[in-house]
Amino acid sequence: MALAPIAAALALLLAPAAAGAALRVVTTLPDFAELARELGGDRVQAEAMVRGSQDPHFVDAKPSFVLALNRADLLVSNGLGLEDGWLPALLRQARNPEVLPGGRGHLDASRAIQARDVPSAVDRSMGDVHAGGNPHYYTSPEALFQVARLLEEKLLELDPEDRAGYAARWRTFEATYRERSAAWRARLAPLQGMPVAVYHRSWDYLLDWAGLTSAGALEPKPGIPPSAAHVTRLLAETRGRGVRQVWQEVYHPTSLSKVFAEKAGARLLVLPSMVGALPGTDHLWTKFDRLVELVAGEPNGP
Ligand SMILES: [Zn+2]
Repeated sequence: MALAPIAAALALLLAPAAAGAALRVVTTLPDFAELARELGGDRVQAEAMVRGSQDPHFVDAKPSFVLALNRADLLVSNGLGLEDGWLPALLRQARNPEVLPGGRGHLDASRAIQARDVPSAVDRSMGDVHAGGNPHYYTSPEALFQVARLLEEKLLELDPEDRAGYAARWRTFEATYRERSAAWRARLAPLQGMPVAVYHRSWDYLLDWAGLTSAGALEPKPGIPPSAAHVTRLLAETRGRGVRQVWQEVYHPTSLSKVFAEKAGARLLVLPSMVGALPGTDHLWTKFDRLVELVAGEPNGP
């Protein structure tokens, strides 16, 4: 019987990563993959399923994702319903119980943060795509730092042999975060209280962190495209409030945002909501560097 050699070969193929080899981390958002690389160094191999230029509510499930999930030691998801439209089907096909919700190899990153706009009862007023609360906390540096703390614990749990390495990388990460975030805040300080209109409510966590205020959204409800009627109503509502900027992600159309911005006397800014959304934003730090520069870099001064 040739079964024994086949079994041996299979066992080799399916064996967990050997000591010193990388933990296979799959993340939904590119920001989480960057966090895993920062905290895990050469102990992790991280890949993201969503590109920074894609709407994370709606992602085409590729067969390569099924394979990646099948082999993954850890899946980091955003949670709060962001991936409900595409991740469950991939997980069913991947047949890897470790990375299912509740499994040791699944980290729901939203556990690290205080969610906004969580409905108190069954209430669809926030729209279908935000029915579990606002899931876009990854636009806030502070929220991503909280996620980093949680991820550090999880990586250590799965890879305890490199405790000293994780501790050293954490110190570097935390020091860089403190320094950069102080610089970002200082750059945004002159804009304190500025009202900002948004296309989709991807920015509420960032607005809070930066001390800016939301003047409303062009979408009547999250996931419902703006209509001319709603945009006209928002213009009337915000008249006199001095809306100076309109923010939107790279993956939404700009036609109605342009109309709104022009009539409101504001500037339309297409900002990187996730790592890789714009050229030069391939890392966590450069994503926020670019974002802050775009917001603070008023051509006519504050
Ligand atoms: Zn959303």
